[in-house]
Amino acid sequence: MPDLAGASQMTNSPEFDVIVIGSGIGGLVTATQLAAKGAKVLVLERYLIPGGSAGYFQRQGYRFDVGASMIFGFGTKGTTNLLTRALESVNVSLETIPDPVQIHYHLPQGLEVKVHRNYEKFLQELISRFPDQYRGIRKFYNECWQVFDCLNSIELLSLEEPKYLARVFFQNPTACLGLVKYLPQNVGDLARRYISDRTLLKFIDLECYIWSVVPANLTPTINAGMVFADRHYGGINYPKGGVGQIAQKLVEGLQQAGGEIQYRSRVTRIVTEKGRAVGVELAGGKIYRAKRIVSNATRWDTFEKLLPAEEMPEGEKKWQQRYQKSPSFLSLHLGVKAEVLPVGTECHHILLEDWEQMESPMGTIFVSIPTLLDPDLAPPGYHILHTFTPSWLADWQDLSHKDYEEKKEAVAGQIIERLEKIFPGLDAGLDYMEVGTPKTHRRFLGRDDGSYGPIPRRKLRGLLGMPFNRTEIPGLYCVGDSTFPGQGLNAVAFSGFACAHRIAADLSI
Ligand SMILES: Cc1cc2nc3c(=O)[nH]c(=O)nc-3n(C[C@H](O)[C@H](O)[C@H](O)COP(=O)(O)OP(=O)(O)OC[C@H]3O[C@@H](n4cnc5c(N)ncnc54)[C@H](O)[C@@H]3O)c2cc1C
Repeated sequence: MPDLAGASQMTNSPEFDVIVIGSGIGGLVTATQLAAKGAKVLVLERYLIPGGSAGYFQRQGYRFDVGASMIFGFGTKGTTNLLTRALESVNVSLETIPDPVQIHYHLPQGLEVKVHRNYEKFLQELISRFPDQYRGIRKFYNECWQVFDCLNSIELLSLEEPKYLARVFFQNPTACLGLVKYLPQNVGDLARRYISDRTLLKFIDLECYIWSVVPANLTPTINAGMVFADRHYGGINYPKGGVGQIAQKLVEGLQQAGGEIQYRSRVTRIVTEKGRAVGVELAGGKIYRAKRIVSNATRWDTFEKLLPAEEMPEGEKKWQQRYQKSPSFLSLHLGVKAEVLPVGTECHHILLEDWEQMESPMGTIFVSIPTLLDPDLAPPGYHILHTFTPSWLADWQDLSHKDYEEKKEAVAGQIIERLEKIFPGLDAGLDYMEVGTPKTHRRFLGRDDGSYGPIPRRKLRGLLGMPFNRTEIPGLYCVGDSTFPGQGLNAVAFSGFACAHRIAADLSI
């Protein structure tokens, strides 16, 4: 093992090999991968617990997921099961509960579709709704599987590491060429190649929108291949004890591997010397130095707040011309009486009453009921119902405290009224309600404007525009949802594997 931290006795020499700013899943996967390789790692987290958007909070016997609860990446086979792999790398594991249906869609004109874990069952259900499109449906989803098969047959590491690229190409040239083909493509073009029915194309838009927050035309095919196939392959699996367990377990593994994490440690500045990132400064003024700095904050936070905005590198400026911040979410964390849920209710739902409103604030409503999979997250006889919908920070700013509270109450009422269609008696069955606005997301997750992440400003060439982990500032790397391949826990885990791989190569470990 090389003596990575050995020089730390010298004045101004790095105390750590790597400092990771933030303990989202992207940051923690980077940290654990590097610690497992023997690097001396410090994670600095501004909040009280790890996880960021994959964190949790407890109220009156309920354990709520902050955000994510439809979890990919916990499969047992292939190479795309990155959460399973991340935990295994540091000798920890999690019990997970398989979800038989990814989503139950409740759509305009009474269209109801369930995405069953069983691929054929899903196809049959969709074909029964659009019988004249049966060929196109099969061809479209089958081609998404081809993308997934390419991904799932190679080790997913840093595309910025030439030796790795040469190795995977040599091992599996067909899969690599497949990925090169799909990398610049978007799903909309693929869908229109096979599907002509306008409502079905809108459905494909929604299939993309619910995780990419943009329609199919702007959604990279690589990401869609991953989502549309893995939900039937590795499946959607909920971690027992709640989504917060993923970060807790990664921290356990990090510490066992010799890494450190400090909470309530808000980084206010990335320290640079002669243009190179050499350390970080905390809110209290303390400075830590490291050979490499990783930011798990969004790129907007990293390059506009932790570094001087006026010195933003050209590449970042160009990236901001191509990508913008997506809206944030308005979240209702509800505790409800069990009888509110009709028999056979699925865990995840999407409600959209008007196709034209899909992208509007409060247009699409997302619902997760994780207690259907893990009842221990709520008191006996009650369920958690987490519902959220896109919302812009601008709509919540400059309100008096009274107006803000009243607006929260009013908007929550509108959402509950709409959900009564799926869950009759919801309002009457409410036991607990907490409303989070984009301001809440900004405050607790430390994300600029509370944004869910970057979305293309216009149609781009698939994923080609998403930056990898290295930045134009030597010594500084980014990880998480504003790096390749984007949002979602499994995606940021990919970003974490790639980031750690690139840093390990740079540090020769
Ligand atoms: C409502 C909602 C629902 C979602 N649903 C799903 C889902 O069902 N499935 C799915 O896969 N994904 C889902 N997602 C997306 C997923 O949660 C995110 O893409 C992912 O968690 C982002 O991880 P990350 O590592 O990029 O960063 P984050 O989770 O944003 O973590 C960054 C961390 O860095 C810390 N930090 C930031 N700045 C500083 C600083 N200056 N100093 C110290 N610490 C700092 C933050 O406190 C935070 O802990 C959802 C997201 C939301 C908001």
